[in-house]
Amino acid sequence: MKAIEQLRINGGLPSPKGVALAIMQISRRDDATLEEISRLVQSDPVTSGRLLHMANAASVGARPLASIPEAIIRLGLAAVRQLAMGFSLVDQYRSGACKSFDYPRFWSHSLLMAVAMQELGKRVRLASPDELFACGLLARIGQLALATLYPEEYAQLLQRGDETTVEAERQLLHVDHNELTAVILEDCGIPRALAEPVFFHENVEAASFAEGSRPYQLTRLFHLARRLADLSLAPDEQRTQHIGELMLLGGKIGLDAGELGILLDQVHAQWHDWSAVLHVPDGKVPAFADLLANPVAAADGAPAAVEVSRVLWVASAAPVRAMLTEILGGMPDQVVHSASSGEEGLALAVQLMPQVVIADSRMPGLDGWALCRALRATPWGQSIYLIVLASVTSETEIRLATEAQINDCVSPAQAARMLPLRMGAARQYVKLLTQWEHDRAQLKRFSAELAMSNRKLQHYALIDQLTGLQNRRSGMESLAQAWSMAERSGDSVTMMMIDIDRFKEVNDTHGHAVGDQVLLEVARTIRRSARKEDAVCRMGGEEFLVICRNADLSSSLHAAERLRKAVASVRVAVEDQQLGVTISIGLAAREDGMADPGALVNAADKALYAAKKKGRNRTCRYEDGKLYLEG
Ligand code: GH3
Ligand code: MG
Ligand code: MG
Repeated sequence: MKAIEQLRINGGLPSPKGVALAIMQISRRDDATLEEISRLVQSDPVTSGRLLHMANAASVGARPLASIPEAIIRLGLAAVRQLAMGFSLVDQYRSGACKSFDYPRFWSHSLLMAVAMQELGKRVRLASPDELFACGLLARIGQLALATLYPEEYAQLLQRGDETTVEAERQLLHVDHNELTAVILEDCGIPRALAEPVFFHENVEAASFAEGSRPYQLTRLFHLARRLADLSLAPDEQRTQHIGELMLLGGKIGLDAGELGILLDQVHAQWHDWSAVLHVPDGKVPAFADLLANPVAAADGAPAAVEVSRVLWVASAAPVRAMLTEILGGMPDQVVHSASSGEEGLALAVQLMPQVVIADSRMPGLDGWALCRALRATPWGQSIYLIVLASVTSETEIRLATEAQINDCVSPAQAARMLPLRMGAARQYVKLLTQWEHDRAQLKRFSAELAMSNRKLQHYALIDQLTGLQNRRSGMESLAQAWSMAERSGDSVTMMMIDIDRFKEVNDTHGHAVGDQVLLEVARTIRRSARKEDAVCRMGGEEFLVICRNADLSSSLHAAERLRKAVASVRVAVEDQQLGVTISIGLAAREDGMADPGALVNAADKALYAAKKKGRNRTCRYEDGKLYLEG
């Protein structure tokens, strides 16, 4: 027997109690009435208060609700059940036996995911925001389950790092937190359509949902909520690291940086609000604008190298060597190397890349001046802080010092007294340089991230999220291009305006999710039937446009009829039924009298309207001001 089944039987998984359990049981019955459920909820003042809070938060601007039956109606029974369950789990598992599991932090994170899913749900209408709140709250419940079921073993795993991997969990415990989350969500009656995206949210790539489909988008939504919660709980100095990634994830669901900022701030406000209601700790997170404004200060890898500088000194004469050993040996926070000739110094410098070099001007062979000139001749030697031991008084020495582009010189007679002071300047220089290099690397990374997210945003601005076809805006651009090329070359342009017949009935009968599936299938069929060079776009709702260059009306008519029949033969499996739909098509070609692309769209629209009027599942063509029905 699989470990999970065993656990289910043993009953050790976190599960709701009290009112939440009763609500769950009663709502499984078909004949459960609103009165019964209201009475149950009202028997528990804490749950009542929280549900009212939720119902009122969900309807900003509407009349505040004070009665439980009204709240249940506004939230919907599914959301009430899931919320009651989530709240019950928060109350029961505020602490536990697993020593390394941070229970308050776990709930804090879960609550962040809950409010993030709720806010995202309001923007991307894929499911009820209140149900998404409940699913967000439970999205990582499998971790709590591991802590509950295997307190000691899981603590061992946690001691290796904050997050445990599913591989490590499976190896030690033969089960992972995602599997447990899935079981708990199923036991709690959360629909599969929501539970599956939760299951895959940590590893989006592992899910094989069709791009653009509802589960695909939901998985990304949960992933974004997860990363947002991670950002909110991250230490201050690590937060800006997450921002670039969040922008990318936001871009994937059509949120630009401004919208993401508003979302983030709202999520944090809601988080504070809810943490008071559920007695879960929260934390302070700066406003999004402030996070963006101070990226460098808060960045990763703060220039720790500033404290330690690499110093190389080069001298041949014994007294100078003794003096330098003494002075430099006693200075803190630096790694000191030495060489006894100019040649050896140069070889060591190549290896060590020192930040400060101190060279005696008087050495046999490669002297201090020549060594400095050699270093300055290399690209990496440009930024070394060069100090030469010489009393620069004569014109010749001034010329040598200038040619060698040194930063400072100290006379050997004064070195014992002055060098510590001059080294202070060198250290200051190294500190500024390191900081500058760090900032520059950071800026480079930011600009690369920004360029990437701009490219993605550009892409998403032109693509319809559900079907992956061009959207209306991009379709209109294609039309304008085809139009102006045709004006120049005299080639033809035709257009099919397509509308699914009685699509509202599909939604009304089978629900919006099935409607989306049908839309996706129709979109695929249109794309497959059209020629490669045709532009196919979703104009909105259940309307599509196909723009054909270099195709005359009669060949387009054939193509339209073929397309219409192809769509009519598509079947979408819905439970045990095979669902089919038909389309109506309005066809028109660019004609001499047409002033602009808008006139062509109008002509195709008129033809579509006529096809609908004549009974649907038809193609109608517009030609010279007249309409002709086919099919
Ligand atoms: P007709 O044959 O006259 O075109 O009838 P119809 O029902 O297709 O036309 P109507 O314009 O009344 O309804 C279109 C419906 O399309 C209404 C709306 O609910 C649905 N719809 C629009 N966009 C979407 C979407 O993205 N997903 C789903 N599932 N439905 C959508
Ligand atoms: Mg329509
Ligand atoms: Mg329609």
